[in-house]
Amino acid sequence: MDTVWVLGDQLNRRITSLEGRSTDDTRVLLIESRAKISSKPFHRQRLHLVLTAMRRFADELRNLGFEVDYRQAEDFAKGLADHRQEFSPGRVIAMEPMSYRMLDRLAELDVEITRSNQFLCHYEDFAEWADGRKRLVMEDFYRMQRERLGFLMDGDGPAGGAWNFDADNREPPPKDARSWPEPVRSRLDDLDEEIIDSLPENAFGADPDGTWATSRRAALARLRHVVENVLPVFGPHEDAMLAGEWSMAHSLLSPYLNLGLLYPDEVCEAAEDAYRAGNVPIASAEGFIRQIIGWREYVWGVYWLWMPAYADSNELRATRSLLPVFRTGDTEMRCVSECLSSVREHGYAHHIQRLMVLGNLALLTGVAPAEMVDWMWASFVDGAEWVMLPNVLGMSLYADGGKMATKPYAAGGNYINKMSDYCGDCRFKPGNRVGDDACPFTTLYWNFLDSNDERLSDNHRMARQLAASKRLGDLDAVRQKAYEVLERLVEGQL
Ligand code: FAD
Ligand code: SF4
Repeated sequence: MDTVWVLGDQLNRRITSLEGRSTDDTRVLLIESRAKISSKPFHRQRLHLVLTAMRRFADELRNLGFEVDYRQAEDFAKGLADHRQEFSPGRVIAMEPMSYRMLDRLAELDVEITRSNQFLCHYEDFAEWADGRKRLVMEDFYRMQRERLGFLMDGDGPAGGAWNFDADNREPPPKDARSWPEPVRSRLDDLDEEIIDSLPENAFGADPDGTWATSRRAALARLRHVVENVLPVFGPHEDAMLAGEWSMAHSLLSPYLNLGLLYPDEVCEAAEDAYRAGNVPIASAEGFIRQIIGWREYVWGVYWLWMPAYADSNELRATRSLLPVFRTGDTEMRCVSECLSSVREHGYAHHIQRLMVLGNLALLTGVAPAEMVDWMWASFVDGAEWVMLPNVLGMSLYADGGKMATKPYAAGGNYINKMSDYCGDCRFKPGNRVGDDACPFTTLYWNFLDSNDERLSDNHRMARQLAASKRLGDLDAVRQKAYEVLERLVEGQL
């Protein structure tokens, strides 16, 4: 009898380690590692989601007739050693893990590996595509994926006559502040309650309320809801932020894709079917599919291509400790307070909130990349190293010196004001960089350009912004104000 070890983010019957295996020749092992669970102060909803989904998947496999050894162990090595001692399996097999470190770990533990099928472009194939290219342009990769996989293709050309409808998807918030389809919620059952009661003391955030699906069946129901109700309005306001609208028209599917509860092909097929049936406009279908076969797979590919050195990137030499506001959520900055309240309540913030508010704040204040990665990883229900490093280190903090983003995503209050309704009720004024009501983002934005002038001077995409910063007549006052703002942020008083 062999053992198939199913890792906590491989919760699907389609994983290659289970392919072709029968209940006669296979015992399944799942390990809950106490070391992993308490390694960071994780959000309660994230821990609950992963642990409950693991237990439900174990039950799903039992119902299919598999013998399942579900272990709670000090760490993975101990769990596996105890399993080996009790069952003496012929071979122990696992599908490739999502993280670089875990791949090494499995080799050390003498586990046989099968090739991962959780992405549509395996990282070895991505490396082949990347080979010899000067720049890894996401749009080129995405087009290759469209052609190779056949999503939204009419013959040899793109459906709707264009490869990318992004220009239609950058609208500011709607003036009527319309609301969006409510996320689906599941009723919590005894297993949910048991797991909530067992969460470690260092876990933080609001308790689960059924927002996040913890089984494949419930994840498929979420996918149906997204296709029927969310996708028709997904797109135009993708980059907009509204107070009190935590999910806007986003799909909230990332945790299921990342845990294996959903596979990317079935998600994209469902979106394409809805477009072909005339229920979803091309701009929404294309924008959504691009996020999955484009951005998501690109991020996965570059993670494997650039690791392990990538994890230590720190181009801007940012060394500040994580600002207290990220942990307390206590701030007068309305934009930050709204985004952090979404994180606290749901373990979620949408892309622009992550990039242009939370990430932007860390970038402008010089938070050390590793500290920000750690915080986001622990705080989001969909966190994982492979997706965090390129998005946080690369896209958000420019720590990789421009491998992911061609220029830093640094912005002042005017951008946030344009893309949200946050500033109206804020005590600060987005257009002001000095004075009592100066917006901290605006002050810090000009200060960021001033203090990184030399490091960014070779980047022609920054030339206009750097030139504008040099023309400021009140640069000394901005520097002084930035000093005060930083002091107050470090002391948790802003
Ligand atoms: P939608 O807007 O509905 O998009 C659909 C899907 O596309 C998502 O479910 C996701 O699977 C995929 N996707 C879109 N953009 C990206 C991207 N840049 N990278 C990877 N997948 C993408 N995503 C995570 O899954 N986990 C993270 O921990 C994470 N951290 C992030 C941190 C920062 C600073 C930034 C800028 C982005 C981060 N992202 C992360 C990417 C993206 O913000 C989330 O995938 C998305 O917000 C999840 O919400 P959604 O499912 O409603 O997405
Ligand atoms: Fe945020 Fe500045 Fe707008 Fe206040 S004024 S919400 S701090 S961007």
